[in-house]
Amino acid sequence: MAENDVKDKKTKYQKLEDKLVFKKKSAWEQFTDKQKKDAFTLCDDYKLFLAKVKTEREAVTQIKVFAKDKGFSEIGEVNKLIPGSRVYDIFKDKNAALIIAGKKGLSEGARIIVSHIDSPRLDLKPKPLYEDSGLALMKTHYYGGIKKYQWVNTPLSLHGVVVKKDGTKVEIKIGENPKDPVFVVSDLLPHLSSKEQDKRTVLDTIKGEELNLIVGNIPVDDDKIKQKIKLAILEHLFDKYGIIEEDFVSAELEAVPADAPRDVGFDRAFVGAYGQDDRVSAFTSCVAIDTVKVPEHTVVVLFYDKEEIGSVGNTGSRSNYIEYLFGRVLEKLGEDMSSHNIRKCLINSFAISADVSAAVNPTFKSVNDMLNAHLSGYGVALEKYNGAGGKYSASDASAELVGTIRNLFIDKGVPWQAGELGKVDEGGGTTIAVFFANHGMDIIDVGVPILGMHSPFEIVSKADIYSAYLAYMAFLGL
Ligand code: MN
Ligand code: MN
Repeated sequence: MAENDVKDKKTKYQKLEDKLVFKKKSAWEQFTDKQKKDAFTLCDDYKLFLAKVKTEREAVTQIKVFAKDKGFSEIGEVNKLIPGSRVYDIFKDKNAALIIAGKKGLSEGARIIVSHIDSPRLDLKPKPLYEDSGLALMKTHYYGGIKKYQWVNTPLSLHGVVVKKDGTKVEIKIGENPKDPVFVVSDLLPHLSSKEQDKRTVLDTIKGEELNLIVGNIPVDDDKIKQKIKLAILEHLFDKYGIIEEDFVSAELEAVPADAPRDVGFDRAFVGAYGQDDRVSAFTSCVAIDTVKVPEHTVVVLFYDKEEIGSVGNTGSRSNYIEYLFGRVLEKLGEDMSSHNIRKCLINSFAISADVSAAVNPTFKSVNDMLNAHLSGYGVALEKYNGAGGKYSASDASAELVGTIRNLFIDKGVPWQAGELGKVDEGGGTTIAVFFANHGMDIIDVGVPILGMHSPFEIVSKADIYSAYLAYMAFLGL
């Protein structure tokens, strides 16, 4: 039977339903066979990226490698930008920007995709090392909104930098090579937890001061020393890195999950890995900008630090880095660099806040309004607003803006869905959108739905990762 015969047999109301009702369809069912294959290939590259990127500094390093490989030059090394020129900028090793100059002047506005490259983790305290009950341990202070109980009994690696007394900087990365040791926060055994732990609430199951990493057990051979295991660890650190205990004061050491990214499911439909919030957006926006040749408007892909702790600090999106960056781009374009013109560039810009949203977990559906919830594998999540408790702290994109994006996605065949994070009054969250909206630009949230957000092993459908790539590519072509 031909397809037309089937169509002709539809009843009047079946035809009306097709015309009027907003139906959800799995992205897997929307993709061609080639697209399905491309989604898997893209995710193979994505897993390699995730394996190398477990901190914001490592993200910047890899973005720089990507940029150089794709013909982007350091902005300071370029005298003049012409349409199609590719440049990048790195700020304090924690922010990055990729830019392709457009045919139109920057004061007519840029097309911006902004994501964040920091992820929740355990940071070492300024004085981390101590010895207790035959163990050497390190105290941590968690970074971002974690459910602390998820971070125990799981292998952790240690990444970061230590600035030594003599001013030199040592980079540390232990636990990623299968031959490396790892570190672990050990939970209490069930046999002894009935009074101490079993009655605690979920958020207190493990308390902040209980997130102590086990780092050693072998003492130095000298009875004149009181803390023999601690000294043995310090001796090891000095021999290997030249570090003394006081150097931890000027260090940024992050304990992150040591596991490598994996495929999840019999059908390998998902990527499971640490730090996909929000490096999935960072990766897909990198790949998307590389497809742009000579854009109408200048395109800018931005990567920020500190989103998980409120976008604060000089490397967070509330800083004035973007004004500074736009000033430099204007200079290289030979355009007016006045602060008024920088404001004009920002106000005329159009941006996507590329960040993850929640996918429905069927085991905990009670937190979702299923009519307005995002499903794994159903394409990018388009969120007009986020925030919490009455849209509090949401940037709330205009109907006109949502209309433009929705039509773009339909036009370009990008699988998309629209909804909210969860039920009204159930909780909530914000993204960089609210801070970029302060510049007066139009901005909307478009990102992938994720399962187990902020856990050591987050899950994202490969269909959604590929949809994000398609979405960001379509947007940069606007
Ligand atoms: Mn995020
Ligand atoms: Mn987050």
